[in-house]
Order: sequence, then structure tokens, then C-alpha cells
Amino acid sequence: MKIQTLAIICTIFLISSCATNPVTGRSQLNTIPEETLFPQSFAIYNETLSKEKISTNAHYNQQVKRVGKRIQAAVEKFFNDINRLEALKNYRWEYKVVENKELNAWCLPGGKVAFYTGILPICQDDQGIAVVMGHEIAHAIANHGAERMSQSGLISGIGQLGGEALGVSGMNSNTQNLILQAYGVGSQVGILSYSRKHESEADEMGLLFMALAGYDPAAAPAFWKRMAAANSSASPPEFLSTHPHSSTRIADLNAMLPIAEQVYISKSIEPYFKAKSK
Ligand SMILES: [Zn+2]
Repeated sequence: MKIQTLAIICTIFLISSCATNPVTGRSQLNTIPEETLFPQSFAIYNETLSKEKISTNAHYNQQVKRVGKRIQAAVEKFFNDINRLEALKNYRWEYKVVENKELNAWCLPGGKVAFYTGILPICQDDQGIAVVMGHEIAHAIANHGAERMSQSGLISGIGQLGGEALGVSGMNSNTQNLILQAYGVGSQVGILSYSRKHESEADEMGLLFMALAGYDPAAAPAFWKRMAAANSSASPPEFLSTHPHSSTRIADLNAMLPIAEQVYISKSIEPYFKAKSK
């Protein structure tokens, strides 16, 4: 796409669409406003979970909820500290555990989280869950799925999503599938797997969110090593199909660790912004 064309599109959707990532500062094109996306996301969450078996494992449910609420509180504090708490006003946070052996977890737009029981043994403990929770919430906070749908050209803009009735019953099944794929939900290998850029950004933000929530970010490279080991002993699970792992990821996380540890110890994002401004 030509720069001029992109500039025109940005101008058209200026108010709702040219967003800046609050953590990394990256500018992104997003043609799907949350007034349109969130109600559909909430409906899809309920619909998807109604087809799954919700886990009755009290330990898992408590763990996922406990870690989720701590990460959520850290995200809210972060947005409050940068005077952008308003950006979270339409979030309806929810944390569910699904009885499913797949190594998967996801967060739909507006804070709708699901963990599959298959990934929890690899998480091992609260720290490990915090790695995945921080990473998935980061994808949602950064609107990666919406950005991918916008970029892919599969959704041409506000009209296509906004023109449809809200709620699953009135929703075009293509749109529904697109949202599911864009956020890594389901057993189908997504045609819109997260790009390396989105993965790096989610890793970076996730590391900071977990550190701000009081979880040692050193758990992140350790978790991804366990995921890599689990992957080598089985056919690639969905989570890895949409979240490609590599030794680069682990090396990148290790490189970010000194700053993330400072955030963890000081309970403040300042060391990160300070390092970034250098
Ligand atoms: Zn990811």
C-alpha cells in the first residue's frame, strides 16, 4: 500500500483508528472501533464457552482467577498512571478455565480470558500462569487481532462489522470466525497467525504487566523453554501455531529481563520508559 493511500485511510478513521500503543508507543492502524468489536467479542466468548466443558477443578479456577485479577489490577494501575484509564472503561474482565487438553489460552477484546487445562501443567504455578496471562492480555490491550483483521483486508472497515446486527445470532459466521482466528481461539490453525512483530510486542508488554503485578519476569523465558520442550514431544498444538516459538523469542525475553526486573523490584514502569527514551 502506498504511503499516501495509508495516510488517507488514517485521516478518514483518525478518531477511532490511528491508535498508539500505550506501552511501546508504536502507531497502528485499526479500523474496528471497540463499540463495534466489544459487544461481538462478548457474545463470541459466551457462545464459544457454551460449546466447551468448563473446568470444575477448584484449584485451577482459583489460580487462573487470582493471577488474572492481579494482572488486571496492574494494567489498570498502569493506564491510571499514564492518565489513560478511560481506555479500559468498556472492559468486562472475565477468567474461565476450559477442560481441554490443548495447550491454549487466549484473551478476546474487552478482557475475556480463557485458559485450557492442557496448558496449566506447563505453566506449573502462578508465575507461569502470569507469563501466559500477561502475554494474552497484552495482545488484547494492543488490539492485535483487530489490527490484523484491518491489515488483512478481510474486514474493510467499520461498515462491514458495524453493519451487522450485534450478538452472535445476527452475526455473519465469517466475521465470527475471523474474530476467533484473529485472537487464536479454537482448534483450527489460524490463517491469521500472529506476526513476529505482534508476538514481540505481546512478550514485551506481558513481561512488564507481570512485573507490575508482582510476578518475577524471569519466569517468562523459563515458561517458553517448557513450551518448546512440550512442542518437540507432540504435534504442534494450536497455541504454538498461533504463537510461534523460537530460540529468538527466549533470547529476546532474556535481553529484556534486566529492565523488567527493575520494574518488578521498583513496582514502577519508570525504569522501562527511562531505558526506552535513551
Ligand atoms: Zn502471542
